[in-house]
Amino acid sequence: MPRTGSALTLNTSVADLSGIGPKKAEALRQVAISKVLDLLRITPARYQDRTRIVEFAAAKCDGSAQGLFKARLLGCKTFHARKGLAIISAEFSDKSGTMTARWFNKTYLTRQLIEGKEYWLFGPILAKAGKPVLSNPEIEAAQTENAAESALTPVYPTRQALSEARISPLVLRKLIGGILDKISWPDSFPDYSEKSLFRAIAEALMQVHQPENHDQAKKGSFTLAFFDQVLFQIGVLKRREALTGYLTLPDQNPAPEREIDFPLPFPLTSAQKHVLNEILADLQPENDKPPMNRLVQGDVGCGKTLVAFLAMLEFHRHLDPSSQTAFMAPTEVLARQHLQSFVKFFPDFAGQAAILTGSQKRGERKQIEKGIAAGEINFVFGTHALFQESIDFFDLQLCIIDEQQRFGVNHRRLLFRKGSNPHQLLLSATPIPRTLSLTIFGDMDTSIIGELPPGRSPVTTLIAANLRQTLPEIRQTLEQQNKVYLVCPLIEISEKTDWASVEETADQMLDLLPSASIACLTGQQSWEEKEAIMARFKAGEIDILIATTVIEVGVDHPDATLMIIENADRFGLSQLHQLRGRVGRSPKPSRCILISHQETESERLKLLCSTNDGFELSMEDLKIRGPGDLVGTRQSGLSHPCFSHRISQKMIENARRRAFTILTEEKPVIRDWFMQQMIASFADSYKTFMEGG
Ligand code: ADP
Ligand code: MG
Repeated sequence: MPRTGSALTLNTSVADLSGIGPKKAEALRQVAISKVLDLLRITPARYQDRTRIVEFAAAKCDGSAQGLFKARLLGCKTFHARKGLAIISAEFSDKSGTMTARWFNKTYLTRQLIEGKEYWLFGPILAKAGKPVLSNPEIEAAQTENAAESALTPVYPTRQALSEARISPLVLRKLIGGILDKISWPDSFPDYSEKSLFRAIAEALMQVHQPENHDQAKKGSFTLAFFDQVLFQIGVLKRREALTGYLTLPDQNPAPEREIDFPLPFPLTSAQKHVLNEILADLQPENDKPPMNRLVQGDVGCGKTLVAFLAMLEFHRHLDPSSQTAFMAPTEVLARQHLQSFVKFFPDFAGQAAILTGSQKRGERKQIEKGIAAGEINFVFGTHALFQESIDFFDLQLCIIDEQQRFGVNHRRLLFRKGSNPHQLLLSATPIPRTLSLTIFGDMDTSIIGELPPGRSPVTTLIAANLRQTLPEIRQTLEQQNKVYLVCPLIEISEKTDWASVEETADQMLDLLPSASIACLTGQQSWEEKEAIMARFKAGEIDILIATTVIEVGVDHPDATLMIIENADRFGLSQLHQLRGRVGRSPKPSRCILISHQETESERLKLLCSTNDGFELSMEDLKIRGPGDLVGTRQSGLSHPCFSHRISQKMIENARRRAFTILTEEKPVIRDWFMQQMIASFADSYKTFMEGG
């Protein structure tokens, strides 16, 4: 099929296929199809079964399945139902009986069809006014005795860019069919021996495009999904190698149990203990061991911060007393809160701790920078300021990143570069299903704190239609000396939408509850203002804190027992869950009220009412939105075909092992082939994935 004399392979450029001129080649290129393999990766939208002939009497009338019929034309007539609508109605008979076929506006058929002649018909049978009708069937003279095909007929999806270049689904079918007839599989791969993965890939491509039955089609697409996942996992392992300097498989080392001897006001939960042990095992120095690269996931309030504190103290005290730890948080309020609780929990270490933020006064900041450079400060808390140019660590050995979903890989990397291959510990309150964490965060070891400390009462979640409806709850909360958060999507009133704003809601609340003490917190305020407000809120001086989602992360105040979220439909499921996590931080019963002004309640909000379990929520969210979406804004630049398949955790784990074997044990030609395919599979987002995603 290629115009040149060489064999047709997966690597052949589509522009070299006969029937593909410059215009078609350009259209294909626009949808990222440049090689034969790309063309063969178009998945049929469905299949038609032309493998057997159906008799009229046996055909179902529900339109559910299309059938292939062989029948003789008895007669044909056209009538005009109204202006512009001509109905062609033809009677056919086969061995089992007769059937009416109907087309709209295809008047040329009346000129072409010949009474008494036999035809192949393919289409759905529908019941029209109680009578079965073969609706708009494909029709072809039955010259050959058997038009039945040996394989199911793939129906390819329509794509605008392709249709414009006259590449219809039918043209695609012919093109792909022609390729599969002529392709040389052995020339397509670096190895085509009996047991090679390449043979499985070739077979899967055949099965997807020319399956004998639906089971085969399924099997083929399963193999291709696995192939996509292998490619993604190769990318993940390469990223892990780039971050840690080692090519290793994550999650391989079981951790020995260890006792922690710091005095604490409460015992650690067993999940906290377990995860702390996993971290400490990573931190144990051993020959030729890569530095820690661990992600700790745990629902809001599970106590990740304390685990991170203990990890850094243990590391400092027992393993490397001269070392420094950087503890980075996404907001100034949160960074300060961390330093405060560190000092409160571990007053003996207060002198070795300090904070760096963007808004510090020059003199103060210079002082701290000096202490960091001299190694006098061992525990450095801070925001993005931690990785600024001017900061020079004496010996940065451990980087802890809180709310890691708020940072890009590039930010993380800038911080890590302040040390020489330091240990990396990431904390995330966005629980994501294991299947997804294996892909997106597949380059890290992962720990899960799957348990909340005792003495928390579950948050009851309700839906309300407007703010007024929540007043009784607010009054009751204030009467019991508890506090309220009220979250709005906007800061100021907007002309573009009628979403609630902090400004307007504050006015409303002052009016409705004149005796309550109210304050506003938004991203527009300076950190000093925010800090002062948070301090007053914690001290119990503020009854109702009206805020934007700035309070989403980290803020910890046990007396807050009511969370109200305006225009809840506007927020993502995990964001709502995060916001809800601001309450329920004491044994007192807490509530979260989602205000939705929409007539029909959304699935997502109902889901939130039904569970407090972040992992369960993310699993459901995955079902509602699909994996590509759930990845969130940070990874929005990332696209990969593996996200279009739903595959099991076990399969991802297998793919990861296979990827590792390919990178470590296969011959260079094979490894190179996969590396090339891997890079191609990320298309434009390879760089994003490796550096920023
Ligand atoms: P998150 O995992 O959301 O970051 P935090 O670390 O903010 O959670 O912890 C939430 C609250 O729980 C804090 O006030 C913390 O001091 C407290 N806490 C942490 N661990 C325990 C525990 N084992 N028992 C009781 N309270 C705990
Ligand atoms: Mg936290």
